[in-house]
Amino acid sequence: MSPLAAASGIATDGHGLVLTDATLRSVSHPQIHAVGDAAAVQMDFGRLHGSCQSGLPTAPYTADTIARLVRGKAVKPFRFGYFHQPVSLGRKDAVIQFTRSDFTPFGLRLTGRAAARYKELVSGSPLMTYRYSRRMNVTTLVSRGGRAVAGPA
Ligand SMILES: Cc1cc2nc3c(=O)[nH]c(=O)nc-3n(C[C@H](O)[C@H](O)[C@H](O)COP(=O)(O)OP(=O)(O)OC[C@H]3O[C@@H](n4cnc5c(N)ncnc54)[C@H](O)[C@@H]3O)c2cc1C
Repeated sequence: MSPLAAASGIATDGHGLVLTDATLRSVSHPQIHAVGDAAAVQMDFGRLHGSCQSGLPTAPYTADTIARLVRGKAVKPFRFGYFHQPVSLGRKDAVIQFTRSDFTPFGLRLTGRAAARYKELVSGSPLMTYRYSRRMNVTTLVSRGGRAVAGPA
């Protein structure tokens, strides 16, 4: 991880990630918001790990948060849940393990070509995947993942 944040005097964890509060603002410099791999994001179930799945929602959440703060509106804490763990095994094989929102696996998984196609779709269409993942909690019963909210519009 880049030493930039720590070298700038921003509070970081042992890996140089910006320590954030529940709204992804730096705990030492609240005027600074951290997103993606640069942010140490704590959920009830643990620390998020660097991934597109968890990093992508932090950006629109933070954009919404800043807009709300500028307008003097209340902001809800960042909220996120995982829904899968995809692993590519070359171009034609993969394993997709679906998870609970706290990243624990459960019975549903894809393997082989179907999994490789799924991984290709997810990696090739991050915006579509993000939009769909926001609805995971209402479209399926298997995961309450993928949610990230800044507050009522
Ligand atoms: C080999 C590899 C495979 C991965 N596979 C997966 C996967 O299958 N699924 C998954 O979910 N995640 C995967 N990840 C993790 C995923 O890529 C990251 O979690 C995600 O890219 C983080 O996005 P980000 O925007 O926070 O950071 P980044 O994508 O790293 O973007 C940061 C950007 O900032 C730029 N930058 C850095 N310092 C400066 C500076 N001082 N000034 C200006 N610009 C700067 C960098 O050049 C970069 O473009 C993988 C990562 C790696 C390395």
